[in-house]
Amino acid sequence: MSGRIETKCIHEGWKPEKGAPRQLPVYQSTTFKYDTSDEMGKLFDLEAEGYFYTRLQNPTNDAVAAKICALEGGAGAMLTSSGQAANFYALFNICEAGDHFIASSAIYGGTYNLFGVTMRKMGIECTFVDQDLPEEELERYFQANTKAVFGETITNPTVSVFDFEKFARLAHRHGVPLIVDNTFATPVNCRPFEWGADIVTHSTTKYMDGHAVGVGGCIVDSGNFDWTAHAEKFPGLTTPDDSYHGLIYAERFGKGAYITKATTQLMRDLGAIQSPQNAFYLNLGLETLHLRMKRHCENALETARFLEKHQKVAWVNYPGLQSSPYHHLAAKYLPDGSCGVLAFGIKGGRERSIQFMDKLKLASIVTHVADSKTCLLHPASHTHRQLTDEQLRKAGVAPDLIRLSVGIEHSEDIIEDLRQALEQI
Ligand SMILES: *Cc1c(COP(=O)(O)O)cnc(C)c1O
Repeated sequence: MSGRIETKCIHEGWKPEKGAPRQLPVYQSTTFKYDTSDEMGKLFDLEAEGYFYTRLQNPTNDAVAAKICALEGGAGAMLTSSGQAANFYALFNICEAGDHFIASSAIYGGTYNLFGVTMRKMGIECTFVDQDLPEEELERYFQANTKAVFGETITNPTVSVFDFEKFARLAHRHGVPLIVDNTFATPVNCRPFEWGADIVTHSTTKYMDGHAVGVGGCIVDSGNFDWTAHAEKFPGLTTPDDSYHGLIYAERFGKGAYITKATTQLMRDLGAIQSPQNAFYLNLGLETLHLRMKRHCENALETARFLEKHQKVAWVNYPGLQSSPYHHLAAKYLPDGSCGVLAFGIKGGRERSIQFMDKLKLASIVTHVADSKTCLLHPASHTHRQLTDEQLRKAGVAPDLIRLSVGIEHSEDIIEDLRQALEQI
């Protein structure tokens, strides 16, 4: 469907026929009916397309995945039960024991643990790199068994901006795809495929849902990466799958190969499917995503400007500020705005930052980010609590860093709340 992104937010995905429900229905059914045993058999052999069991596919989920796919400009997409599952599947679909991949060290704490601890136990090794290093220096982290490069458009919680073109060049020079977690920017503010990324992931739990009602994730494939050109690196896509009578994904499904493999192998065997009810809520969130992102960005910029001028504030990082070291990357990749999240520290360090947080009235302390209500947390005490000081430093998380997620209330009310809390410390 043509149309601008605002129109796509509303109309992509569910396309009702005459007499069908206008709003996306929740297909609250585990299973789907067929008339003959043969029809069902063909589905199991991937010879025919159709629904048979919700662990693999469900029409509500597929409509929402199709909407996100259209927003990102991809070739195929799937929903997952969480952002964690999306990032795990995105990599595990092309990496196995003995393989290696490269990730920015500035990524979300949960992803850092997944890559550095849990996937390592599975025999998959991740090298974390400082994403701001020059291209020549990043070169040396590639190995013969490297299978992917991973980063976040805007990192959680340090709000650093990813240099897509630099990492796309590096990844492609080494014959591997670039995978980008686009959770904070959303496709309203950045479409990583336009800058060379091959696969995009989301924690839909954040802005896409937008109201803090459902945990979810999504993987979108651009269809641009040529698996057969690097066949020896990606045998899972380019050699026969014994669990489907020897079919070869890249041959049979072309641009749909990566998502088909993730559905038929990973969803089948690991089962981190999103519930159709949550997909329904997610779709409602997506309908207003373009309106909310605009407001989040306006409010965050005003809030960042207020904090930057306040004498009790030590530092503020928001890509929209002129003073941000990422301002030039934001101007290039995020010209319409970045996100509603900003990071800052209070003079007096860690203890003062914690005192300040306890004085807030409107903004709440929650382990969440990127929804309509202003909220905040202190990563060193909360999300990144498991990391050592050394790991914290590597992840760029200062001990006094406060992650503020600016909501869509009136900006003056948000600023008023921050002002009164600052006055009390
Ligand atoms: C929250 C988050 C995740 C994890 O998503 P869940 O939905 O909580 O599993 C991954 N990446 C980023 C950037 C996030 O903010």
